[in-house]
Amino acid sequence: MLNVYNVTKKYGKITANNNISLSVKDSEIAILIGPNGAGKSTIIKCIAGLLRFEGKIDISGYENKSLEAKKILGYVPEMPAVYDLLTVYEHLEFIARAYELKENWKIYANELLERFELLDKKDKLGKELSKGMQQKLSICTAILHKPKVIIFDEPMVGLDPHAIKELKNLFVELKEGGASLLISTHMLDSVENYWDVAHIMMNGSFAATKYNNDIDNEKSLEELFFEITENKN
Ligand code: ADP
Repeated sequence: MLNVYNVTKKYGKITANNNISLSVKDSEIAILIGPNGAGKSTIIKCIAGLLRFEGKIDISGYENKSLEAKKILGYVPEMPAVYDLLTVYEHLEFIARAYELKENWKIYANELLERFELLDKKDKLGKELSKGMQQKLSICTAILHKPKVIIFDEPMVGLDPHAIKELKNLFVELKEGGASLLISTHMLDSVENYWDVAHIMMNGSFAATKYNNDIDNEKSLEELFFEITENKN
């Protein structure tokens, strides 16, 4: 479970997040959508513990910057950061050591590499990977330790159709396994129907929140998004 309470983040005079609160329950997928500059990456980075902010963020009850929280958090950054001189497999080994995973991590690692068509690239160096391959590796390393809360910042960017399909299946499997997922995107057509709650972000705040199971859903997410972001009726 992820809880964000009244988070405000300013960069100098710019208020990138203005008093944001949200929760993502166990077995729930929340999406953050909004135009460029809305503040999506900023709140994700605050949750990941990379920025200072006013307010409070809990990961399954632990303050987000605590070691306990970090052990159960997975983060897929907007820009994949791979080590030039580690191979694909060594990246996973590095994570396994850092999180002190049991020996059977290799089974899950191989499964992930196969799903994302990286198994035959496992001996390639980070610097030899294309942007899409780096992104796929970044996803594998973020979930290898089976985190309870996973935050994805624009995870579809740069992926090929096979990887997008795998990633969508993975979202649903992680949810079914009890994880809380927060996914930011500006690609509305990529989110389709797997989400439970959608927050539409504008100028650092939530302009609207929509629940997928709401029986009074008259408007599609896309209609609501354009109505809000383009101020149309
Ligand atoms: P999004 O992810 O929705 O595109 P961001 O969270 O990246 O939005 O940005 C929100 C606002 O904060 C924007 O106005 C952006 O210019 C500003 N911003 C983001 N990062 C920085 C930074 N490191 N320094 C100054 N301003 C920033």
